Amino acid sequence: MTEQPPILVTGASGYIALHVMRQLLDAGNAVRGTLRSLDREAELREVLGVSASSQQLEFVTADLTADAGWDAAVTGCALVVHTASPVPMSKPKHEDDLIVPAREGALRLLRAARAAGVRRVVMTSSVAAVGAGGQREEGRRYSEADWSNVDGDIDAYSKSKTLAERAAWEFVAGQPEDRRMELVTINPSLVLGPNLARDHSPSVEAVRKLLAREVPGCPRLGWSFVDVRDVAAAHVAALTAPEAAGHRYICSGGFHWMSDIADMLAGHLAPMGRKVPTRRLPDFVVRLVALFDPTVRMVASDLGRRSEFDTAAIRRDLGWEPRPIAQTVSDTADSLIAHGVA
Ligand code: NAP
Repeated sequence: MTEQPPILVTGASGYIALHVMRQLLDAGNAVRGTLRSLDREAELREVLGVSASSQQLEFVTADLTADAGWDAAVTGCALVVHTASPVPMSKPKHEDDLIVPAREGALRLLRAARAAGVRRVVMTSSVAAVGAGGQREEGRRYSEADWSNVDGDIDAYSKSKTLAERAAWEFVAGQPEDRRMELVTINPSLVLGPNLARDHSPSVEAVRKLLAREVPGCPRLGWSFVDVRDVAAAHVAALTAPEAAGHRYICSGGFHWMSDIADMLAGHLAPMGRKVPTRRLPDFVVRLVALFDPTVRMVASDLGRRSEFDTAAIRRDLGWEPRPIAQTVSDTADSLIAHGVA
């Protein structure tokens, strides 16, 4: 039985949250997770390897769209990791479907945390709150000083992350300086790596599609990637690093083209007799398909573009180092295969 106050993790069913919880539990902390419903408690306990009789882990209910549950969730906690936010698999019907739960939910959590005397909240933001909606500049390197332009050409998810993070910083700035609750944001790029639960996050969908051979080849698209275990480690470090208070931290391993990822997957899976589409698709073919296919149309303007993120701050303040991308890619594949989704 543990006597220490629990660390609250919101959105405890999530891809990133489960890794945060596993690392916190492994380090001997007591953890309380919020869920929208307790239906998945038994499954999540099994995933985390903590029995129902253990007091090291508890679950409570709270929804970002309602006040109920948040006060009870934060009671007795000094530290909070706020990961909950809608992560859509496809474009929402209306941008408010994402913006309202993301922003109002963050404020609900922060108000309750402040009232309960929480010392520090580490919030999962995104590079979507850093480099979206602006003029595309080839080879641009973004830093924590950059903010996405919510009035520009921006997708609903990036807008929701930007508005939620801005609201969080405004909330803490509005408190008296000597009694201010500390806020840190972790701003990951596209997250890959093993799933602990059976459902998978939209961010591993490109790898799943390659494994399932649902794409004929690789368009000239690329993203900055980061491993989910490294993202979790950044959250855990940010809970206690004294110099982290008041900072946002870009958390990214580096940029890779989809074709690089496909080559890594092909190399990893060849001994198992599995093939991965590695053929490069010319831009004109992708643009042609985009005329008929709205999903392809969404990414057609990104063909050939690369953007980089400066990670000096997280390395310096949190002693953070990303693992090699090849390990992340092969572990993602193994996990999707083990869960039977690819
Ligand atoms: P995920 O697996 O979809 O996790 C999202 C979590 O938010 C789930 O636990 C979900 O609960 C919860 N949630 C959604 N709407 C909610 C609501 N109305 N009330 C309460 N909880 C709600 O995705 P993830 O990748 O782990 O994302 C976690 C955080 O990381 C998010 O803030 C996301 O924006 C951020 N992030 C993710 C990536 C990435 O590439 N994956 C990159 C940068 C930032 P249910 O299980 O009940 O739906």
